[in-house]
Amino acid sequence: MTRPKDAEARRAIAPVICYPNETLPAVPLDLYRGARAGARKVDEALAAPREACAFRVKAGQFFRISSVEGPQVGDLNLWNANDLNERFYSGKSRALHGTHLTTGERMWSSFPYLRPMATIIEDTLEWYGMDGFGGSVHDVIGTRCDPYTGNLLQGSQYHHCCHSNLIRALAEAEGLSLKEAEPLVHDVLNVFMCTGFTRDTGQYFMKASPVRPGDYLEFFAEIDLLGALSACPGGDCSSEHSSDTAACYPLLVEVFEPEAGALGAWQSPPVNGYDRSHGMG
Ligand SMILES: [Zn+2]
Repeated sequence: MTRPKDAEARRAIAPVICYPNETLPAVPLDLYRGARAGARKVDEALAAPREACAFRVKAGQFFRISSVEGPQVGDLNLWNANDLNERFYSGKSRALHGTHLTTGERMWSSFPYLRPMATIIEDTLEWYGMDGFGGSVHDVIGTRCDPYTGNLLQGSQYHHCCHSNLIRALAEAEGLSLKEAEPLVHDVLNVFMCTGFTRDTGQYFMKASPVRPGDYLEFFAEIDLLGALSACPGGDCSSEHSSDTAACYPLLVEVFEPEAGALGAWQSPPVNGYDRSHGMG
């Protein structure tokens, strides 16, 4: 097909937002923060450098992911603790909220559940916003570093990519074989990672994370959660991942329990209301 005469006019058409999100269920941020204020710490887990840790958070509890010791990005997976088929849906979370998540936005679950799994209630990197390269923090555009892509591009056999770290953590937490665990690992929320797409070629890029020790991202658990967090072998992802080259640091996960009654009449969100008949009968 040849370029049409009105090519420029077609290019100049203004975009429309695919999913206007004003009709999403309201986020009761004040309620969550009020409950968090009186909460006490009940558990913690540490993701060692180039390893992942698993953790459990009950519906109505909070969890905080913190940078400790040095700049480090983390790859986060979430499952319904009572049904591992329900897991975080990075692509739909991106479609609903945009390329990067921050305070007041949610991690949504896979079909046919499609409900909030966790809501971000604090983000100490919110100040970063969007930089001049189109980069921002906590993306849902990357997948997770994995040994298959490294093998495809470099012929490598590297065993501490986030994909493998998450598989080992899930297998250990649930008593699964590697074969059983691998298909349950999914695209992540890239905690603290600074990423975007290049304007000229549209390629996925990363740059040094602005995270400093003490920075954190904090969530309210909307349903009972099993989480796994990998301290990415890319460290702050300023140069490369999928190798032992970058400086890597641990990431801390802390779980907090609010006081009884602090959430008032709050209830876990129900699964999605679509009737699942898909046009049959
Ligand atoms: Zn990684």
